[in-house]
Amino acid sequence: MSQPLFERLTLVGIGLIGSSIARAARRDDLAREIVISTRRPETLARAAELGLGDRYVLDPCEAVRGADCVIVSIPVGASAAMAEAIAPGLKPGAIVSDVGSVKQSVVDQMQPHLPAGVHFVPAHPLAGTEHSGPEAGFPSLFENRWCILTPVEGSDPEAVERLKAFWVGMGSKVELMDPKHHDMVLAITSHIPHLIAYNIVGTAENLGAVTKSEVIKFSASGFRDFTRIAASDPTMWRDVFLHNKDAVIEMLGRFVEDLFQLQHAIRFGEGDMLFHHFTRTREIRRAIIDAGQDTAAPDFGRGGTKPAAE
Ligand code: NAP
Repeated sequence: MSQPLFERLTLVGIGLIGSSIARAARRDDLAREIVISTRRPETLARAAELGLGDRYVLDPCEAVRGADCVIVSIPVGASAAMAEAIAPGLKPGAIVSDVGSVKQSVVDQMQPHLPAGVHFVPAHPLAGTEHSGPEAGFPSLFENRWCILTPVEGSDPEAVERLKAFWVGMGSKVELMDPKHHDMVLAITSHIPHLIAYNIVGTAENLGAVTKSEVIKFSASGFRDFTRIAASDPTMWRDVFLHNKDAVIEMLGRFVEDLFQLQHAIRFGEGDMLFHHFTRTREIRRAIIDAGQDTAAPDFGRGGTKPAAE
């Protein structure tokens, strides 16, 4: 057997992302021992039932003792408190990472608490579903998906390489990015689309003229795909918007300006403008499929009325 990348990997937080890491790391033999920690005893018990790790430790500070890699997978708003809690247990030379959907705020929250000699390499896997909890994870979640690492100033290049090898080992493609730039890119590719979905589903629900049962009954026409996104975890997404405020506000401004242009074109019957706009957007869809980031199958590959796995 080849040498695993890490002797002891501690996963703090064992929801969708943490449990997918546990499953993939086990499958791909990336750590000799996997230690699991989570906030509530019932979640820890569930993780043990599912056999996600080798040891289960409620106290995060105890859980990280002796670990050569610690990955924190919790809502981004809890990052500072968690860094403070684990700091006394970290061994010198350990790699500390996270999976948060926002990066600059996580850096600001965690870095001040981490002791010198610990290598902090924040990360964000661009993979997920609208489901939560340890049952929701699966080992192939990260396959052929990007994972963005946002090393901080002075990050040890060797630690960055080891974490990169870990994500590549789970099937991801890895790119390095500045945390602020990450937040701007993700604002438009992920955060604003979620906000739009939350908004449109909320608007439909509020419409007095269209009954709730009609919204559900006729949901096949586009709305259904928004409802999937709008079913995403409320805690996670509250924290994303609170902690990526500047980039989201900036991108939202651009979005609203463009929306007004479309509204104007519809009001004044500017068919050419609409046609050119929709042609341009269709090309983006084709490029995403060509890049292997989605399927070209009709109806997102659902195959009948069964919901997609992701
Ligand atoms: P999840 O399934 O809801 O699991 C959350 C985990 O965090 C659980 O172990 C939970 O513990 C713990 N937790 C919740 N609140 C906490 C708090 N205040 N303090 C300490 N621990 C807390 O969440 P997830 O989808 O795995 O998301 C985890 C992170 O991954 C988030 O930062 C999110 O931004 C990022 N992410 C998510 C996705 C996605 O699509 N879901 C994709 C990429 C990145 P208990 O159950 O024991 O309470």
